[in-house]
Amino acid sequence: MTRTAWVLGSPIAHTLSPAMHNAAYQAMGLDAVYLAARVEPPDLGAALEGLRVLGTMGCNLTLPLKEEALPYLHTVEEPARTFGAVNTVRFVEGRMIGCNTDAEGWLRSWDEEVGESLAGRPVVLLGAGGAARALLWAVLQRGVARVQVVNRNLARAHRLVEGLPAEAVATPELTPGCVVVNATPAGMDPDADATPLEWPRDLPAGTVACDLVYRPRQTRFLREASARGARTLGGLGMLVHQAAASIELWTGRKPPVEVMRRAAEAALVAD
Ligand code: NAP
Repeated sequence: MTRTAWVLGSPIAHTLSPAMHNAAYQAMGLDAVYLAARVEPPDLGAALEGLRVLGTMGCNLTLPLKEEALPYLHTVEEPARTFGAVNTVRFVEGRMIGCNTDAEGWLRSWDEEVGESLAGRPVVLLGAGGAARALLWAVLQRGVARVQVVNRNLARAHRLVEGLPAEAVATPELTPGCVVVNATPAGMDPDADATPLEWPRDLPAGTVACDLVYRPRQTRFLREASARGARTLGGLGMLVHQAAASIELWTGRKPPVEVMRRAAEAALVAD
């Protein structure tokens, strides 16, 4: 019997997840189909309960539902509990289990595309929302030397770093080997001219600029960093790897990441 998996969110029309997941299921010979549905926060409990009763394989959550989901789940696993945000739901023996694969997705993308050690490096994190929280957790797992969090609303950055080995700063200090991550939507279409950071003319040696934005693939933030000699990492790899990690949680099998990446790229071009 064909099983279903879902992504719920609002807005949801431009999601790349069905393209990535369906390509993976086909390549894996999995009798399953992945669908998107627009769900507003007040309907989330009913939507999840419906999916649970139907024997759904799994479900992803995107904005604005990642935080809203927590009260409806039977269990919330780490690191989703620490983030207070769930992007993947597993349905196991009638129970709903919340997970989060965003941090793991970014770390896998870093390892695959940059492939350098994060240990001992300085990190500058731009933003203090849900994605920044996941990134902060991710880099702290890897023993980075220092994390500076910068945000428009500095009080929010202070709240993010509370109790963690990281500092909230108004202006970051860029030092050799630094990893600068844009975890804000600045630079996304249709705001493609925006950048979360005005780069200095000369960047310290070994700077890596990372953007979580993937639409457009090459943001102004990445273009300007690259022009100053930095290595760059776009957001599409994180998107692909968080989806692959969800499939692993649901099936216990490793999906073909390259197939998923090609499907995401094709869907981005077609959109
Ligand atoms: P969020 O919770 O709404 O947080 C947004 C953050 O960005 C806040 O800190 C906000 O600052 C800041 N911000 C918003 N607009 C800004 C601007 N024009 N200039 C500077 N700062 C700005 O959003 P999120 O869930 O963390 O997502 C952030 C970005 O990450 C989005 O673009 C999302 O698509 C991307 N993302 C990508 C992936 C992936 O797989 N590649 C996964 C997750 C998220 P204030 O606090 O001052 O309002």
